[in-house]
Amino acid sequence: MARVAILIGLMWALGASPSYSQATPPGNGEPIPESSIDACLTRLSALGVTAQAAPAPLDHNEACVVAMPIQVKTVTGRYGLGSAIQFPNQPLIDCRLAEPLAHWLGEVVAPIFAANFSSPLRAVRTGPGYECRNRNREATSKISAHAMGLALDISGFELANGQIVSVGSANDPVAEAVLRTIRTAGCGWFTTILGPGADAAHADHLHVDVQQHGSTDRFRICE
Ligand SMILES: [Zn+2]
Repeated sequence: MARVAILIGLMWALGASPSYSQATPPGNGEPIPESSIDACLTRLSALGVTAQAAPAPLDHNEACVVAMPIQVKTVTGRYGLGSAIQFPNQPLIDCRLAEPLAHWLGEVVAPIFAANFSSPLRAVRTGPGYECRNRNREATSKISAHAMGLALDISGFELANGQIVSVGSANDPVAEAVLRTIRTAGCGWFTTILGPGADAAHADHLHVDVQQHGSTDRFRICE
């Protein structure tokens, strides 16, 4: 019962209804900084992120360009003394995505998992990050944020005791509520969050990205 009360409180505090919004995101109201990869990696290190610069991916499609390619290995969960959260797939992403990702996972996702499960978050199961393709893998749609390394797909969360909380197939009310809460909260850090219920292409994973929508960075798509 206590878990449910904590969760309801969190959901109330975070706003429980995903929607289109132009609100200033918490902790990150400034535009995504354009800076060197070294400066970005330095900021990540200060956030407790283990990452390294990666070779720029080469593709015949010149629209597929990652400005600041890095591979992320771990972020730090911000509860108690902190603990490393692994990325077994070490996704290739733009450094500018890694910063909001580290804040969201470390400051929101890890504490919410710690509060609702008997074992802490150990790893995040992801796709490869960078993929040179159109949205939803369609032949004629716009180029995907994945093609710039500005998007990451998350299929599940692994706890230290081995339990897996899979996106789209969580089979208990607590897991479902946790996934719903972190998804709502993520809209403060990412410009787009899509997941189960948004469309058929996102039935089994959360898609998060920081691609700007139109002429302003203050528009969000949270579905
Ligand atoms: Zn995606």
